[in-house]
Amino acid sequence: MENKVYKKNDILNVLVTDLDNDGNGIGKVDGYTLFIKDTYPGDECLVKIMKAKKSYAFAHLEQVVTPSKLRVDAPCPKAKACGGCQIQGMSYEGQLSFKENKVKNNLVRIGGFDADFIDSIWEPIIGSEVPFRYRNKAQYPIGYDVKQGKVIAGFYAGHSHNIILVEDCLLGPEENKDILKAVFRWMKECRISHYDAANKLSGLRHVLIRKGFTTGQIMVCLVVSSQKIMSKEKEEKLAILLSGIEGMTSISYSVNTEDTNVIMGDNYTCIWGEPTIEDYIGELRFKISPLSFFQVNPAQTVKLYGKALEYAALTGGETVWDLYCGIGTISLFMASKAKVVYGVEIIPQAIDDAIENAKLNGLDNTVFLVGKAEEVLPREIKADEEKAHPDVIVVDPPRKGCDSECLNTMLSMSPDRIVYVSCDSATLARDLRILVDGGYELVKATACDMFSQSVHVETVVLMSRVK
Ligand code: SAH
Repeated sequence: MENKVYKKNDILNVLVTDLDNDGNGIGKVDGYTLFIKDTYPGDECLVKIMKAKKSYAFAHLEQVVTPSKLRVDAPCPKAKACGGCQIQGMSYEGQLSFKENKVKNNLVRIGGFDADFIDSIWEPIIGSEVPFRYRNKAQYPIGYDVKQGKVIAGFYAGHSHNIILVEDCLLGPEENKDILKAVFRWMKECRISHYDAANKLSGLRHVLIRKGFTTGQIMVCLVVSSQKIMSKEKEEKLAILLSGIEGMTSISYSVNTEDTNVIMGDNYTCIWGEPTIEDYIGELRFKISPLSFFQVNPAQTVKLYGKALEYAALTGGETVWDLYCGIGTISLFMASKAKVVYGVEIIPQAIDDAIENAKLNGLDNTVFLVGKAEEVLPREIKADEEKAHPDVIVVDPPRKGCDSECLNTMLSMSPDRIVYVSCDSATLARDLRILVDGGYELVKATACDMFSQSVHVETVVLMSRVK
């Protein structure tokens, strides 16, 4: 049957049956597909077409006629306007099953694996006991709200540069609100502006806040657009206003003069307390500076990397490679159960942190190498037999997945097991297909919810070499 032609501003009644990978509801009317933000499977709603294409359209939710059973009242009043929590309006069980299905669908659709086979190796998704206030790091952009006539802190709405006022983000600790209040007071008393590149206003760009959930230590780093903004007097004033907050351990600033999306400057100056804070992931201790990478949800990281460790099945004598190792979290997790762990990471500062973290934890059987995995691996295995024949290779690449040169080198090393940790199940599926075609089989897989309320999901897969 020929599709009826729908156009902009048409109002339609639609039953939402699915979610796309970004968390938008999907419904069909006469075979015509509608993508509707802020709707969930089971919603019957009236929607208005905003942008019509030949076979699909983006529509705006006008009214929920019959709500889905998955719907809950989003606890954050800014949930819709702020782009951070795409699925806060869905029950936590609903979120978990959405994430599980998203991964499985990608493995079937992109990886070409059989759906029943995936079900047979699948372990239930690892949910979180605390789906709110789990983030140990927040970076608030500072801007000016013309309507309210005041400086605000919040988050960028959707994919825009407009800042939505969010005084108390429900993903972060409650102290963030008090810290922001103190910073605003400091700006007022010291006559410090917000930064505005378009109007050539130099001032405060971002407030970075980190809290060690285990240690209770808090770090605040102000990102300013010019060194001139700071002075001894202003620094002292800031220290007075912030140091009374319980747990405050480190106060610093970082100068970033560039007009780009990069938040931090290249270095930072500590003005009160320690230059770093410490925190734990499981038993492991980490030193964290304003510039270091650190997992944002330590409670779930323990579970995810614990699963990776379980899949690696180490007994103490193994040689392990940890590719895309960052600050070495996985390497250190594995080190106490292995003979030696080699970590590879492209960012030199992360490798410096990894080496320091290994020392901090008294682990001396790790070797960290700087460079691209696809370049370091082929080079290193040429000279050294032990390096060339590891028992286990773990990878935890960024969203774009592994480079094909890296995958081919891994195959040539023929480890007994490969453990793939992934933050993007589409590229994961693509890479698993290459490894399976190269002589490996999927043994076990699961997902872990590290970023509750958002559409993101982590996956971990165990593969073993077919004998
Ligand atoms: N497990 C790590 C995080 C991994 S995130 C930890 O807990 O610290 C992915 C990492 O891959 C990032 O640190 C990124 O800098 C690094 N990376 C990106 N491309 C790379 C490449 N081609 N070779 C090696 N590392 C790379």
